[in-house]
Amino acid sequence: MAKLVPRRVLVTGGAGFLGSHLCERLVAEGHDVLCVDNFYTGLRANIAHLLARPNFELLRHDITFPLYVEVDEIYNLACPASPIHYQNDPVQTVKTSIHGAINMLGLAKRVKAKILQASTSEIYGDPAEHPQREAYWGNVNPVGPRACYDEGKRCAETLFFDYHRQHKVRIKVARIFNTYGPRMRPDDGRVVSNFIVQALAGEAVTLYGDGTQTRAFCYVDDLVEALVGLMATPDDFSGPLNLGNPQEFTMRELAGRIIALTGSASAIVHRPLPFNDPVRRRPDIALARRLLAWEPRVELDDGLRKTIAHFAANGNG
Ligand code: NAD
Ligand code: UDP
Ligand code: UDP
Repeated sequence: MAKLVPRRVLVTGGAGFLGSHLCERLVAEGHDVLCVDNFYTGLRANIAHLLARPNFELLRHDITFPLYVEVDEIYNLACPASPIHYQNDPVQTVKTSIHGAINMLGLAKRVKAKILQASTSEIYGDPAEHPQREAYWGNVNPVGPRACYDEGKRCAETLFFDYHRQHKVRIKVARIFNTYGPRMRPDDGRVVSNFIVQALAGEAVTLYGDGTQTRAFCYVDDLVEALVGLMATPDDFSGPLNLGNPQEFTMRELAGRIIALTGSASAIVHRPLPFNDPVRRRPDIALARRLLAWEPRVELDDGLRKTIAHFAANGNG
């Protein structure tokens, strides 16, 4: 195997769900990892096990403010990702996406670092095309309650491509679809964590709307593999690149699976569908398959089992 040349890697949002798994992976590979997080939704506990490692460093910092460090690569993951968190302080969400992107791009420009943006399937909004290909421009309500996140991420993509065209910054834009796994917050309101917490506690599982809306769920290890793969693509590839698992499920099916896997006696109760909740969502990952020779490997039931075990062990059930 080729010998790895350690790089100095900045991970913003590194104490969050995805970020902590990414830091773990990069530290294990021997890179010098600088985790930057303001703990808005992230937890110190997510990276506590890395603090003793000589190649891991934690900096408490809000990326809406400038940051002067010397690094080779930047993964820009900082941004609350669950609707209840990003809607709690929507102005801060927009600032994180936009001021944060400008600062990280300014940093990348100054130190000539390669920079990856954690964009999202939400930029497709409530999609009129199914499944969603990278060429689809999306269907987003610019003034709705989800807009702080969706439009913030859309503008961040614009900034990435403009810094690339105007300043020759090497960029990679990942459009991440619903991802789940250990270290999701039990209180973050996302469907997988909600259903698991409710099922483990024997409480009713809250199905929004009639439960026929669909999502496709990617296990976190598969996603991290793809992020690292995307960062390693040749400089002439900037993206955007869809990353996710194309297996699509209705929320009703998901509720049934989680109830079965937890062995819970929970009932299903219906709650109103949130405003602007996308009806269908599934990534077309043909480009990622071809470019990264990557394929999600973890089946939903296996990933759910690992996630359930994590929640059960952490007393969140
Ligand atoms: P998360 O909320 O667990 O992590 C986000 C992290 O960013 C947290 O640690 C938070 O404290 C930190 N943060 C927020 N604002 C910050 C700021 N201004 N300065 C510094 N740190 C800040 O969410 P996640 O699920 O790990 O998502 C990580 C990234 O991936 C986000 O950018 C999100 O939009 C994107 N993404 C996630 C998913 C998913 O399904 N989890 C899907 C699509 C895109
Ligand atoms: N910036 C930063 N770290 C750096 C370089 C720049 O945080 O190492 C911030 C800086 O605050 C600036 C932003 O990134 O406002 C955009 O930088 P750019 O060079 O594009 O713009 P300018 O400095 O000309 O406004
Ligand atoms: N959902 C649900 N019950 C819950 C939480 C969410 O039925 O307790 C639904 C939600 O309406 C949406 C889907 O599950 O249709 C995924 O929601 P999530 O917030 O996890 O992700 P996003 O909507 O951002 O894809």
